[in-house]
Formats: sequence, C-alpha cells, structure tokens
Amino acid sequence: MAAITHVPISPLPPERFRELLGAEYGRVEEAIETASSLLAGRVVWHVNSTATGGGVAELLHSLLAYARGAGADVRWAVVGGGPEFFRITKRIHNHLHGLDSDSGLLGEAEREEFLRVNRLAADELAELVQPGDVVYLHDPQTAGMVERLSATGATVIWRCHIGIDRPDPIVRGAWDFLLPLLRDADRYVFSRREYAWEGLDPERVSVIEPSIDAFSAKNEWLPPEVVHAILDRIGLLSDGGAAAVYRRLDGSQARVDRRARIDQDQQLPERAPVMTQVSRWDTLKDPLGVLEGFAEHVDLPDAHLLLVGPDTEGVSDDPEGAEVLGEVRAAREALDPGARSRVHLVSLPMEDVEENAAMVNAIQRRSTLVVQKSIAEGFGLTATEAMWKARPVIVSAVGGLGEQVVDGVTGRLLEDPRDLETFGRLASELLADPALAARMGEAAQERVRTRYLGTRHLIQYVEMLSRMLS
Ligand code: UDP
Repeated sequence: MAAITHVPISPLPPERFRELLGAEYGRVEEAIETASSLLAGRVVWHVNSTATGGGVAELLHSLLAYARGAGADVRWAVVGGGPEFFRITKRIHNHLHGLDSDSGLLGEAEREEFLRVNRLAADELAELVQPGDVVYLHDPQTAGMVERLSATGATVIWRCHIGIDRPDPIVRGAWDFLLPLLRDADRYVFSRREYAWEGLDPERVSVIEPSIDAFSAKNEWLPPEVVHAILDRIGLLSDGGAAAVYRRLDGSQARVDRRARIDQDQQLPERAPVMTQVSRWDTLKDPLGVLEGFAEHVDLPDAHLLLVGPDTEGVSDDPEGAEVLGEVRAAREALDPGARSRVHLVSLPMEDVEENAAMVNAIQRRSTLVVQKSIAEGFGLTATEAMWKARPVIVSAVGGLGEQVVDGVTGRLLEDPRDLETFGRLASELLADPALAARMGEAAQERVRTRYLGTRHLIQYVEMLSRMLS
C-alpha cells in the first residue's frame, strides 16, 4: 500500500481577485512575477494528513489552486496511516491544546508508531523530491518527515496551524515529543506570534495568519433570493421561489438538495432579527452559554437565535459532538415556550462539503449578527467568514478572535467569555440598531479584504521564500 496519496489540484486564475483588490492587485502581480523566477525548475510540495474535512484541507484546496493558476508547480501529498497512527496524532493535537481527554501517554510506543508511519511516507516522497525543491510539512502529523526530507537538499518548512496562548505542562509535554524531530527544518511558520514554541530557534520563526477564499462555496456572494431558497431547502424558511444553486470552487454550478436536522417550534419569521453561531458542537465553543445569554439577556421580543453545527448523527468519530448537542437540546427544551419558540438548533448534513459550505454561507448571510462566544479559540474562521459577508460580530477576546475584531469598529469584543449579561447587552444593541450593524459590518468586510484573503497569504509565502532561497 502506498504511504502517501497525491491529491489532484485544478488551477484557478488569481485574476479573479483583481476586481476585489483594486489597485492592491498590483502586489499580487509582483508576487507572481517574483515567484516565477524564484521557483523556476522547482516543485513546491505541501504535505498534510487529509484531503477533505477540516480547515487545513479547505485552505490547501484554495491556495494551491491559485498557486497553480499563477504558474507554480505545486503538488499536494497526503500521509496515510492506520487507526493507531491517527489515535496518536489526535492525542498530540489535543495535548497541544492543553487537553488530556484520553489521559493517554506520548511515550516510546507512541513515538515508534508515529515515526514508522512518517518514515514510510518520507521515504516514498523523497524519491520524487529534488534538491532545490520546497517542502511544506503541515501540522504535527508530518513532523517526523522533516529530517528525511531535509536530507534530499530541499528547503523544508514546518507549518503549524494550531496553538495556545498560555502553554501548560500538557502542552509542553507535546512540544518535548515533537521538538527533536523539527531541528532540521529551515523555517517554522505559526498562525500567531503567541503560538511559536519555546525551544525553537526564534530566527527561523515566521508568523502568517490564516485566510479565507472569497470565491469558495462558503464565501461567494449569493443573491438574497438564493439565500432564501437555500434556507427553504434546509427547512428554516418556506416559500423560497428561486433555485437553491451555488458555485463550487472549480466554477461548476451545483444545487443544495439535502435538508438539515432542525429542532424548532416554528420556522424563521421572514423579517425577524437573527443572531447566529456556527460551530462544531464543542464545549469550548460554549453553545450552552450562547443559548442562555440569548434567552435571559437579549431583550428583543422578536429576535431569533440559530445555533448551527455539523450533523453528528452517523458521525461515529465524534461522540463528544453528539453529547454536546444532546446537552444543548435539553437546555432548549427547558426554556419557557416563548423563548424556546425563537431558538433553532440546526445540524447541517456533511455528506458533500461544498453543499454544507453553501448552507453555512446562506445562514451567515441571513444573520443580522454573528457571534463566536468561544471559551478558547485558535483563530476563529467563523468570525472571518461572517465579517467578509459584512456582518457585525460579537466574539470572545480569546486567541485569534481578539486580533480579528477591532472593538467598536468591526464588531464587539467580549472580554470575559462567561459574562452572559454583557454578551446579551452587546447583542441587543446590535440587533436593535440596523444602522450601527451595517456600519460595523462594512468595516468588518474591509478588514477581511485587506488582511484575511488568500492572496495576502500567498504574497507572504512568496516573500518568505524569496528571503530563504536567494
Ligand atoms: N463549519 C462548517 N460547517 C458546519 C460547522 C462549521 O463548514 O456545520 C466550518 C466553519 O464555517 C469554519 C470551520 O468549520 O470554516 C470552523 O473553523 P474555526 O476556525 O471557526 O473553528 P475550529 O472548528 O477550527 O475550532
């Protein structure tokens, strides 16, 4: 069995961004020109552990397509591995977030299995990599490939997408497990300065923030009648006359067919102000706090709350998600009928990730206000996505959320994520004041346009490579 799988990449034209970026598109053109001489004859490899599902795969699908469209020979390889390997990497992932959920060890046995899988993948890839190539290894799952691939004469960059503001002994334990494997990397890239590990050579650390794709099914512009039609198809509204169509990233047209699993007493009234949180069903996203804050502290009698997440039924690898959703359901059932009738729990089908993305898109666009009241957060792409749709946001001042939102300008920051009274007051203000909401939404969209689109990400990659390779 092959130790790596090659993921096909269909090129997309970066020119798509010209209109969005206006004069700033000049910087993209400069980066493309620099890249074409810098990367001539080189292959840029990206290696991670999945081609579907999760933020990193979503990011790579977009960024690598535009990089190909710009003329770079980029390739994408995925490391295979059995259940034992992924049990270990999930444990590393949890430990890096300070979670010791399965009380499991990262000891010699784990190191052996982890390295065995990474070694097989690295050996297979090393057959193709040539001196002068660039290899991006993404996240802990690929850390064991650094040494072997460095020995090929390629430039090796380890890109870590996760992190925590205040490392504890559990986090440091995971660092100790990985650090010896990373010594030979030419560069370490983190999403925030705070996430860079102690023990890594600071001279080799770069910070590159995440980004979103303005043209993906998740973020592309949808006309209001299509938003309505998609929400009708899902089951949140009725009378959607138009077709529930969207565009896939590759430009082809598609239709939303599946329905969502929804707990609701009534559908969404057409003009009701709507507050939304979209998240995995996870305690750290605090859906229970959002529900309680809405029911007890939002004083608009016609406002509705949408709590939206992936369908957990039939997803056997996320028992925690089903449990959290169960708790949220029970809390909703316990509300008095008036409040309960304005709370909708929406579980979106996950069979087709782009269909799911179009549903998220329509829901965010129908929202008056989007919140992300996380107790802890890596970056918080749900906020970026809502801001891009010119929605005002209320986010906890934790992790990357605190950086994305300028308090009072592009949204509101909740200093203490557990302060439900302040949360309710801020939400009431925004839900009741369409002019304020519109002003903040516009400022939010502009912030995403200048800071969080994939073109900025690609420019930073080119700048970093030109410092390293020349
Ligand atoms: N998401 C989705 N469908 C869902 C729920 C969430 O596509 O039903 C997406 C959401 O739009 C965002 C990502 O999952 O792109 C979550 O990223 P974020 O950084 O907010 O949190 P994470 O899940 O990585 O902790």
